[in-house]
Amino acid sequence: MKVIINPGHSTTDPGVMGPTGLYEHDAVTTVAQVLQEALHERRIESEILVQPGGNPQWALNHLMEQVNARQSEVDIFISLHCAADKQREAYGTRVLYLEDSEESKLLAENIQKHFPRTLWSGVQPSQEYILQQARFPAVVIEIDHITNPEVEMLMSLPAWQEKVADNIVNGIFDFIGPQDIRLFIDGQEIYSDPVPQLVYGDVMVPVRLLAEALGATVEWDSERRILSIYTHRTSEEEEPSETPALSEASQA
Ligand SMILES: [Zn+2]
Repeated sequence: MKVIINPGHSTTDPGVMGPTGLYEHDAVTTVAQVLQEALHERRIESEILVQPGGNPQWALNHLMEQVNARQSEVDIFISLHCAADKQREAYGTRVLYLEDSEESKLLAENIQKHFPRTLWSGVQPSQEYILQQARFPAVVIEIDHITNPEVEMLMSLPAWQEKVADNIVNGIFDFIGPQDIRLFIDGQEIYSDPVPQLVYGDVMVPVRLLAEALGATVEWDSERRILSIYTHRTSEEEEPSETPALSEASQA
């Protein structure tokens, strides 16, 4: 499970500027970092990809080539932007999805539902270039309206940034659903609690459950924090000499 986070715009094309001078690119860059931390806490791998400076269309091309080159590793693509409105009081989060893509729409709806409803919030079909180019579920999240002075002020507050990040993470979890990985040993299903989970590309299973199912014995020394697995293979083959040597070693 891997999420690509793209803070929209770049240093040479910083996007919309709020009433007191906060640039969209700076606002979403901070949120991207907070989002990455929040995903990490929930054991979801992510990568922040920023488009290079220079001609915006060339930069977006370059970005999407980079993203699509990693197609096999990537599950979700999220581009962060700010909404802008002529009505200064406008506030709320908008999530854009690729028109005609059910997956993209589902991802957008799952994320949007964690944000407060306002007159200006909602999900919206879009033909944005990056959504068209992405080869996996992708959305553009307009985290809020930078043109609203109150919102612009909130955007600098860590508590607000963390809330936004949490809402997005919860939406991602709703979208991917329970990660119901089933474990079989020699064709027989082994039930694990907690259930096996995909973490950074590896399936994690409680070690005691797995070792005991394979006929081994597990010892956990909580003081020294040592986990020992005994397969009984060596002791059966070399019982006379191995046993005393082992006990000597543990006394030392
Ligand atoms: Zn933007």
